[in-house]
Amino acid sequence: MSFYVTTPIYYVNGEPHLGHAYTTIAADILARHHRQRDEEVFFLTGTDEFGEPVAQEAEREGVTPRELGDRYAPRFKEMAAKVNASNDFFIRTTDEGHMERVQEVVQRVYDNGHVYEGTYEGWYCPRCADFKTESEIIDGNRCPIHKIELTREKQDNWFFRLSAFQEPLERLYEQRPDFVIPDFRRNEALAFIRQGLRDVSLSRPTLKWGVPVPWDPDQVIYVWFDALLNYYTALGYAREGEDLTGRFWPPFHILAKDILKFHAVYWPAFLMAAEIEVPERLFIHGYLLMEGHKMSKSLGNVLDPDQVIATFGADALRYYCTREVSFGQDGQISPAGFEARYETELANEYGNLANRTLSMIGRYRDGTVPDAEPEPELAAAFEGAPGRVRALLDDAELTQALEEIWKLVRRLNQYVEETRPWDLAKDEAQADRLESVLFGLAEGLRIATLLLHAYMPDTTARLLDALGEDKRGLAEFGSRGGGQRLGELAPLFPKLEPAGDAGKG
Ligand SMILES: [Zn+2]
Repeated sequence: MSFYVTTPIYYVNGEPHLGHAYTTIAADILARHHRQRDEEVFFLTGTDEFGEPVAQEAEREGVTPRELGDRYAPRFKEMAAKVNASNDFFIRTTDEGHMERVQEVVQRVYDNGHVYEGTYEGWYCPRCADFKTESEIIDGNRCPIHKIELTREKQDNWFFRLSAFQEPLERLYEQRPDFVIPDFRRNEALAFIRQGLRDVSLSRPTLKWGVPVPWDPDQVIYVWFDALLNYYTALGYAREGEDLTGRFWPPFHILAKDILKFHAVYWPAFLMAAEIEVPERLFIHGYLLMEGHKMSKSLGNVLDPDQVIATFGADALRYYCTREVSFGQDGQISPAGFEARYETELANEYGNLANRTLSMIGRYRDGTVPDAEPEPELAAAFEGAPGRVRALLDDAELTQALEEIWKLVRRLNQYVEETRPWDLAKDEAQADRLESVLFGLAEGLRIATLLLHAYMPDTTARLLDALGEDKRGLAEFGSRGGGQRLGELAPLFPKLEPAGDAGKG
């Protein structure tokens, strides 16, 4: 089994922000989860460095587009490292290997007869690097995404015969109802296809900053085709002397809704034209919307990923982004919301459970997990849980899968309150029951933590180490006996210092 997951590549015309971090975190959770399933995983992210959006920003700043790329590509690399992304490669579209392979594929599409020369006239948004159809344009000839005024452009260039792929695309969507998920995004893409597809520019005659068209080097390939092809080209040169395409293709794409059309319509059509297998799935996520008025003591009124990571760690950010807003939907986030989840869920529900469980086993059984049978009512709560999480993550349902895991965390807390191990410990006649309870807690915590590992790799690794668990694969409840020596564990999510009180009294 292999699993190939991608983020879109990010434009190098500005600093990375929370939106980029969000997509990268989501793809990383899937990559890590599939590695836990012992699958061969390849996780790709990178930067999109050609085209108008980059050329225009470079001009504004008085640098060359390449200099702009060299400035920002490392910032995106750092961002991936900061959120603890485990990407296997970081592609830059200015890579030699990418450019060569783009030309090969585009040449193949040309040779297959899907390209012709023509004139295009239409409304163009330079920030989208895209012509807009009449139905997309909003009042005053503005871009629906950027709200800037569109320019009327007329170009002689090369066209990709997208219209010829209307029927094949409709068939693809029919045969594979989950090709694009969630459903409402699929419907959006399908509606766009059904309204009739027009041919699209494959090249730009006036721009110099791009991959040259192989049969007409005075023109460069339209940046969207060059960018989309990164998913394919990277496998060709990411490992020196090895072509990974056969091992990992087709990909599972994660992307935000603003680039749906390119990925769900242009991209599969272009792959068909090149006789390359279309992607496995596309998951389209929504936006995290900042609720400006909900301030927090430690973070102010903006949820800045750098600041969150510096203060609370990457795991807390990864958790909050996937927990607060149902993955796939738009939703509100805020610094106050972050702090509330950090304190109630991470510090109290999960962190306390971990420390309590370890300290009770330390106190009552000398730090060794008892070898016992778990009580059936606790075991029942865990029955099938790993399978449910896997099934949800097969569909990239990150928020629902996390909720399944969190139910286990809450069940364990409830179990502590129900069984009151500190009372059992006072009664010698309850020694066996105490062993069952402590075993069940350690085992439940281990399973929940293994399931959480993809979401919060660092803190869960610390806890698994303390539980004497060196494996990271997914396991079922009760699949490990007792007898492990427990280690030390500093609080996983330290409590916040009350702001403003420091140094007083
Ligand atoms: Zn635009």
